[in-house]
Amino acid sequence: MNTPEDFLSNGDFLKIREALDKKQISSTELTKLSLIKAKAQNDKTNALIHFCDQQALDTAAQADKRIASGETGALLGIPIAVKDLILVKDAPTTAASKMLENFTAPYDATVVSRLRSASAPIIAKANLDEFAMGSSNETSFFGCVKNPWDLSRVPGGSSGGSAAAVAARSFTLSLGTDTGGSIRQPSSLCGITGLKPTYGRVSRYGVVAFASSLDQVGPMCTDALSCAAIMDVISGRDLHDATCNHENKADSFALTKAYSEKQSLKGLKIGLAKQFLSSKVQTDVHRNVEAAIAYYKSVGAEVIEIDLPHVEHSLACYYLICTSEASSNLARYDGVRYGYRSPKEDSSLLDLYKNSRAEGFGDEVKRRILLGTFALSSGYYDDYFQKAARIRRLISKDFESAFKKVDVIASPTSPFTAFKLGEKTKDPLSMYAADIFTLATNLAGLPAVSFNVGFDQSNLPIGLQLQGARWNDNLLLGLAALYQKNNPGKNKAATL
Ligand code: GLN
Repeated sequence: MNTPEDFLSNGDFLKIREALDKKQISSTELTKLSLIKAKAQNDKTNALIHFCDQQALDTAAQADKRIASGETGALLGIPIAVKDLILVKDAPTTAASKMLENFTAPYDATVVSRLRSASAPIIAKANLDEFAMGSSNETSFFGCVKNPWDLSRVPGGSSGGSAAAVAARSFTLSLGTDTGGSIRQPSSLCGITGLKPTYGRVSRYGVVAFASSLDQVGPMCTDALSCAAIMDVISGRDLHDATCNHENKADSFALTKAYSEKQSLKGLKIGLAKQFLSSKVQTDVHRNVEAAIAYYKSVGAEVIEIDLPHVEHSLACYYLICTSEASSNLARYDGVRYGYRSPKEDSSLLDLYKNSRAEGFGDEVKRRILLGTFALSSGYYDDYFQKAARIRRLISKDFESAFKKVDVIASPTSPFTAFKLGEKTKDPLSMYAADIFTLATNLAGLPAVSFNVGFDQSNLPIGLQLQGARWNDNLLLGLAALYQKNNPGKNKAATL
């Protein structure tokens, strides 16, 4: 292994870092190759909406200089793509919506300015479900993304573009966002590693808002060590986001690496929720998730059955809270200040609002706005929004009691592997059910990781989800890294 292509398609973070630091390859070479590969693969997957060639090559040149002068840094010179919900100055930020089709970001999101300081070349903006609403990447105004493991299937959503491009090794690092599963579910369906950090660990400043009490930015990469390296750069207090007030100790990478070298997990308790065990899950998914848990047991972990009595209400609770917050957040798209403006002759300001919103938003976004507006309207607020808020509290309490008994909670990430394009588009409820295992994490503000633990009979990836207590993100990454070190072959690239 010595060419940039070898390192890119292998995707191992430590090897790429070492090759750059030893000047075996340069950041410029790696970035150029990523751009070429990403563009060629994009014809098949439609994973990326916009390429940032010049910005990326400038950063790569800067990274090469820094490396030449002996500087080190976890992400120094490694190309990364960001979901097109995250603002990158002077590049389009569309949220995969006609509403923002012609919007150019006037400033950088905090996560982006931190990536810039780390000299990680930002090479592209990744496709997603419109305004991050969806589980299959089929609601994008720019067309659906196709799963590189099987182009007739979805990559999951909403961060489907980030997941598909990493799975095909256009690059090895990307950022997604997760409001109800949008980092973890596509990571699972595409066979990569994704972390939804604890709410409040990563700044949401400069990220198009969907449901502000649930939204969180996180890494989607080839392996857990890459995710940890990204967390060291992007997380930590930000004066622009009052919910992001946690100190960044920048110790994720070191702790994850140390954890991956552990010989025994003696003393670690893994919880299995009986509610998850009884859910309907595809047989292959069940078998592979059980095998992964058996691995942890074989190195000393104890597996304990736990009870999360209120999680069965997560789906109903989530779809009331996220739609309510979305209806409020998306009120800013009025056709006046920015975004799409209807060209129709308007007889009144109200008509301008109506036409611009009717023409600018897609069906799923409209459905969410309608549901949320209804749930918040007078007469229904107490019955719907308030009740959901109370149930949310009960779900959080279930987790608080569970984490007194166990360190992590294991489950499948998704009840099934990648489904066919179009299979669930006619039935929103069956689409919403794709997130059955991931939604509760966001409602409780907890961290969770998804990583590949096997393949089904059609060679489609299967993800394991580990959820942790608040701020315990590093333990999750450590456990994922330990699995990856001792179970080679699970972290494969999809071949296009
Ligand atoms: N699939 C879920 C939804 O449609 C989650 C989306 C997300 O996490 N952004 O709302």
